[in-house]
This record gives sequence, C-alpha cells and structure tokens, in this order.
Amino acid sequence: MFYQKDKETMTRKETEELQLMRLQWTVNRCYDRVPYYRKIMDKAGVKPSHIKNLGDVAKLPLTSKTDLRENYPYGLFASAIEDIVEVHASSGTTGKPIVGAYTHNDLEVWSDCMARIITASGVTKEDIAQISFGYGLFTGAFGLHYGLQKVGCMVVPISSGNSEKQLMIMEDFETSVLIATPSYGVYLSEMAKDKGVSDHLKLRVGLFGSEVCTPEMRTQIEKNIGITVTDNYGLTELGGPGVSGECLERDGLHINEDYYLCEVIDPDSGEVLPEGETGELVITPLAKEAFPIFRYRTKDLARLTYEPCKCGRTQARMTKVLGRTDDMMIIKGVNVFPSQIESVLFTMDHIGPHYQLILRKKNFMDTLEVQVELIDANLLERYGELEALQNKIHSDLKSVLGLECKVSLVPPRTITRFEGKAKRIIDLRNENRQ
Ligand SMILES: [Zn+2]
Repeated sequence: MFYQKDKETMTRKETEELQLMRLQWTVNRCYDRVPYYRKIMDKAGVKPSHIKNLGDVAKLPLTSKTDLRENYPYGLFASAIEDIVEVHASSGTTGKPIVGAYTHNDLEVWSDCMARIITASGVTKEDIAQISFGYGLFTGAFGLHYGLQKVGCMVVPISSGNSEKQLMIMEDFETSVLIATPSYGVYLSEMAKDKGVSDHLKLRVGLFGSEVCTPEMRTQIEKNIGITVTDNYGLTELGGPGVSGECLERDGLHINEDYYLCEVIDPDSGEVLPEGETGELVITPLAKEAFPIFRYRTKDLARLTYEPCKCGRTQARMTKVLGRTDDMMIIKGVNVFPSQIESVLFTMDHIGPHYQLILRKKNFMDTLEVQVELIDANLLERYGELEALQNKIHSDLKSVLGLECKVSLVPPRTITRFEGKAKRIIDLRNENRQ
C-alpha cells in the first residue's frame, strides 16, 4: 500500500539497517546545520563519524525540553524558513512553548506515520471521522487530519468543546470514528449515554491520544457507547502524534521504527536499559528535515518489546505510558505514580473514572488524600456499603503504594472535567505548612 505497509513487516535486520542509515543522516544534519547541536556534540566529544552502528546512538548527548526552550523559537531549525510550510507549538501553560517545524517532506512522513496507525486501529476509507481535538498550534488535530485523509476517510474537523453540538453532529453526520483525548472521550460518552443518544450513534472506533488512555477509561468509553478504543502516542517535540499506536490486538503500541528510534533509560543514571525493563523513553526521530533532534528525553515511563505481534506486524512495541517522571510524587520518601492509584481504583464497583490526588503537609509530614467520584449518588445514603467500599480502597491502596492515605468518596459530577488533559494532582504541600 502507498503508506508503506511493507515497512510494518520488515525483519529486525532490515529495520536496523534502515534505522542506522537514517540515524547517520539525522546526526549529520544536526551537526552540519544546527550550531547548538554541533556545540553539545563537540562538548560530549562525538562526531557524526562516530555513529557506526545503532548502539552508538548512546554516545550522543541526551536532549530535553530545556534545550528546546533555550532555542525558542527557531534556533533548532535545520531548514531555511522558505522551505518550512507549517509550524506547531506545545500547549504548555507556563513559559514559552516548544515549537516544531515541518517541510513538505516532513508533512508527508507525518501523514504516513498517522495513516499506518489509523489503519492498524481498523479504520478504512469508508469511515467518517470526527476530530474533537482542538485545532490550532496543538499537533494532535492536524496530525490525525492528515493521516485520516491519506487513508481516505471523510474528516469532520469539529475541534474540541461545545459537547452538545459534538453529539448532534455525531448523530446527524453518522460519524463512525471519534478522535479525542481519552478524558474528553469519557465525558462525551457519559453525556451520550445520559441523553439517551448512544443507541442512535454509528460510532465504531475511537482513536484516543495526547494523554494516557488507561484500561479503565477505555472500558468506561466502550461501555457507554459501544466502540473499540485504541491508543496512540507522540509528542510535539518529535513532530506530534505518529510515533506509535495500537493495532486491534491492543497489546502494546507499534512503533513506526523506520521513522523513530526508541531507547529506554534509567531516568536517574541515564544508562540504557535492556529490553523489557521499565524506564524513561528516549526517542530519536530518523527522517525529520526541518526540526531534527536526537535522544530526546520524553519523561514518559514505558517498556519496549521486540517480540512479533499476533497481528503480523514486526515493528517493536512500547507499553502504554506507565507514568511520567514528572508525575512521580515523592510522598514520605516513597515514589508514587498516579497510574498505580488508578490500577486500584478502577477495579472497584460503584466508582467512575474521575479522581483527584491531593497532597498536603500536616505536622511536617506528607499526607495524600484520594478523592474518588461515585457513579451512583444513592450509595451515599447506604452507609454500610459506603464504608465497606472506602475501607476496601484504603487497604488496597495501602498494599500497592506501601503508604497510608485518606480515601474520600464524593458525589457524582463533583470532580472537575477537562476537555484537554486531566489534571489529577493537586499539590498543596508548599501552601499549607503547619
Ligand atoms: Zn499488532
């Protein structure tokens, strides 16, 4: 197929040969065209000629968001402005955003990567796809837009917000594919169910991205509107969505390895970890003209596997993001990730996908309150059941996290909903010292 289906089934050797060739091209491009990269490579004592095999990637220095911020807005571009046809920027609310640039070729590669992921999730040219991501500088909407069009779908670029209208369009236009953040997906699916329109919808597939879609959010959406949900992954810094995505086996996200080289490192030491170990994902895009970068620290924790998948694709797979090195909370000296808390919460009956973690200091000690939203307000009156549920959550969290926390069950619809990424952690430890 025109979007290089063959690249999805290459042998490991073929993949690695292509990756090495493209890695060398990328490193040369960075060194020759971007003074900042030349400077940090010289400082680390690495020349492009030192990259003789794939493992040599570890000789290159790691890069991070700080490098991108320091060179805002155009400092890391490797193409002349006249060759750049599009820019995007991160949605971060603090400081200067991260800017990414695309040449015509970069857009082609982006559409290719997305078309593969979209196809792997079972979408075909017969589908009608509603993009409920916010259009704008954010990469998500455009990436999916280009990829869906490449597959041949009819795209409905509704953008985010105005949920009533989203449902009306979904019903009237007979939308079959929904593109959204998982939290917005949960919200829309709840609304569709409450309004009784879920049975009239033609939705069959959802591609969710931009934040982690937990198995529990997936179950919730599938239960509310009866669709197959797949997850995909990418970052503005690396060109947006398109790094990896799930096939219908949904047993890890297939990495577009001909365009991205992934490593997993120990976030503290920077050491590269062997296959199967959990660590920070470090990614080198292999074909970017306008905005090349090497060894970018994603701050996302994941594992890699090179085992072939049941679907027949031979591309390596990454797990869903298991947590953020940023989100790691240190509570009483213990490392805690929101994903650990989710794994407990979503096995319980009577509670929905919405929760909040509140950190405080009391008598100079950290405390963690886990607020969880009930599905059924009536449970609040049934004290025996309510207490039993609270105790069960409390003891399960204690055994998973290895620390005490306070569990509060709150009425339905009391925890703030987000149309973009959900904000789960409220850290008040520096505000209410006692
Ligand atoms: Zn697969």
